[in-house]
Amino acid sequence: MKHKIMEFLKNSEGYISGEEISNKLGVSRASIWKHINALKDEGYEIESSPKKGYRLVNSADILNYEEIKRYLNTKYIGRTFYHFHHIDSTNTKAKELSRQGEIEGTVILSESQSAGRGRLGRVWCSPERKGIWFSIILRPDIDPVQASKITLMGAASVYKALESMGFRECKIKWPNDLIINNKKVCGILTEMSGELNKVNYIVMGIGLNVNIDQNDFPEELKHIATSLKIEKGEMIDRKKLLGEILNNLETYYDEFIHSNSIDTTIDICKKNSILLGSEIQCIDRNNIFNAKAIDINPEGELVIQLKDGSIKNIISGEVSIRGLYGYVE
Ligand code: ADP
Repeated sequence: MKHKIMEFLKNSEGYISGEEISNKLGVSRASIWKHINALKDEGYEIESSPKKGYRLVNSADILNYEEIKRYLNTKYIGRTFYHFHHIDSTNTKAKELSRQGEIEGTVILSESQSAGRGRLGRVWCSPERKGIWFSIILRPDIDPVQASKITLMGAASVYKALESMGFRECKIKWPNDLIINNKKVCGILTEMSGELNKVNYIVMGIGLNVNIDQNDFPEELKHIATSLKIEKGEMIDRKKLLGEILNNLETYYDEFIHSNSIDTTIDICKKNSILLGSEIQCIDRNNIFNAKAIDINPEGELVIQLKDGSIKNIISGEVSIRGLYGYVE
């Protein structure tokens, strides 16, 4: 009912009276008033006047299913959709829902997060309605060692969505970050629950800085983080962008599940890598070493060459990579 009322508001120029909505939908005016309040709580700006009725102030920049569905051409990704105004962390919520059996493709999105996470428990800054902060539940029937490929699919999906919206300067920092002008614009955090040879579920969280202004970033991020708005100098349509990301993700994920191939993903990650050909610093638990990044192999591992000439393959998540760009740990 709430969304039917929203359709009415969207389709009417100016005010529409409570009586008219009530007649057309066959519900009481008190009930309409309740639904309007619920819509306001979701973040819609609705003016109400005792004489004239209700009016939608402007088309809302809200990433709920009703708003984004026209951009989706997926079968299952994003078709079950949880939208929050505020949450601690979408990954935490997604894991909770996964444990309760929520289905593959479910998206959990929040307009803001108080405890968005990066790797190793680092905090992810997620100001209200300025980014796309969401997690996806996947349940692939694969060996857990393959799970890191999902992160690359996420990176490729965001990359292609940004490219289609005119961002040509973007680079992928294997395996989980997107970089523009040497600054991080997007981070991906994939978490898995599994047994020895079986995945229970995978939750992939994506945080994309969309309409963040320079001043919204805390001091410590100002030099290492950027947003699409900062780079382009104008507001970016979050709904379209989210739709594109989810559409791409379903394509790459389907390719993996049905053809056991991540060739398209690898191709995108290789062509647009910020690391390949560069000297990088690898940090694992006990030591730091320098190497040259030379390839991403068909399994999605980063191939590096050490100082002594030997070649090593790195599985994502095994080490932290620091490149020669704006931020070093
Ligand atoms: P890395 O891959 O660089 O090790 P993580 O994946 O752990 O980083 O992401 C967390 C880090 O990202 C934080 O420690 C912080 O430096 C940075 N960060 C936090 N919020 C944002 C944001 N909105 N945009 C860009 N970088 C951020």
